[in-house]
Amino acid sequence: MKKISIIGTGLSAIFSAIHLRKNTDLEINLFDKARGLGGRLATRRAEDGKFDHGAQYFSIERISNLPEIQMLINEGIISNIEDKDIYFSPDGMTNIAKKLLMDFNIFKEHKLVSIDKENENYKLFFENGSTFNSDYIIMSCPMPQSLEILNKSKIDFDNNLIKALEDLNYFPCIVVMIKSEIKLSNLDKHIGTDVDSKNISWIGDNYRKKVSSIENYYTIQCSPEFSYENFENEYDETNEKLKHDMEKIFGSNYQILSNHKWRYSIPKNFYQGDNSLVINEKDFLGLCGDIFTNGRFDGAITSGLSIADKFLKNELQK
Ligand SMILES: Cc1cc2nc3c(=O)[nH]c(=O)nc-3n(C[C@H](O)[C@H](O)[C@H](O)COP(=O)(O)OP(=O)(O)OC[C@H]3O[C@@H](n4cnc5c(N)ncnc54)[C@H](O)[C@@H]3O)c2cc1C
Repeated sequence: MKKISIIGTGLSAIFSAIHLRKNTDLEINLFDKARGLGGRLATRRAEDGKFDHGAQYFSIERISNLPEIQMLINEGIISNIEDKDIYFSPDGMTNIAKKLLMDFNIFKEHKLVSIDKENENYKLFFENGSTFNSDYIIMSCPMPQSLEILNKSKIDFDNNLIKALEDLNYFPCIVVMIKSEIKLSNLDKHIGTDVDSKNISWIGDNYRKKVSSIENYYTIQCSPEFSYENFENEYDETNEKLKHDMEKIFGSNYQILSNHKWRYSIPKNFYQGDNSLVINEKDFLGLCGDIFTNGRFDGAITSGLSIADKFLKNELQK
């Protein structure tokens, strides 16, 4: 049985895996450097409550016809606010990935470092020392991370295609997870709100989304400018710098329960050519991810389906 290795367990990886499983008899293996599943769909427990600290909500307008989306709705894994096209996951966004990947072979804490060619196969080298042979590869990492791997690899791919990817980048985002004594009344009806401040751009209400069963668990997204300036700082220093903004929002009775830094949060610019990219057709090597589409939940899914479609067409032509 031929093997395909999919790097990442975010939405684009998940949907490429689902599409390939429906249409091939390949052995499909997914690898992620992280301990959890879902990539930028991320949920964290702190004290007795929970926070979504990656993607917060999403539109299904362009993906509602997918059976997996209907299944997620029917099983209550995702639901919407007041009949609007604003969807979230009541038990936390990570649950979407956990549900969709339930029956797949997954290797967590496997950070891909480089790829070589050995005989007819690709040989994947992971940071933890393990190696894995594969006939085909799909990479779904944020683009700078995929390029770093390709630069260290001894494999054939179209270098001209890679050039167009070198300028692609993402905004960083520092996230702060807050337990507040007071309830933010402007969030009574909404799951989040923009903040008009230089340092903070958005607040999300995890209780309103039913992610947290405890009230007043808020996720703060810092502005791209603040995140850039403070990305390399220790969290204590960052949190101290945010004190004034935080006190304006929450008064003095709040606690920071956790922080997270996303080096690659939302794409700054996008690949213009197509929804995914094949850089080696002979021994299939493809790239996907939200940077090929719109930098959002639905776009990541579109990109994953696109690279799987290209694999199917490519193999049919052989
Ligand atoms: C703070 C934040 C807020 C957001 N808010 C929203 C929102 O409200 N609505 C919305 O629609 N979208 C939002 N997004 C964007 C949305 O999360 C992404 O568009 C989508 O999740 C991207 O999926 P992906 O598969 O392209 O990439 P990812 O989810 O990033 O998946 C890439 C995977 O590759 C793995 N990986 C990377 N390098 C390696 C390696 N060397 N070896 C193995 N694995 C590796 C990563 O661990 C990760 O699991 C937000 C993102 C962030 C960070």
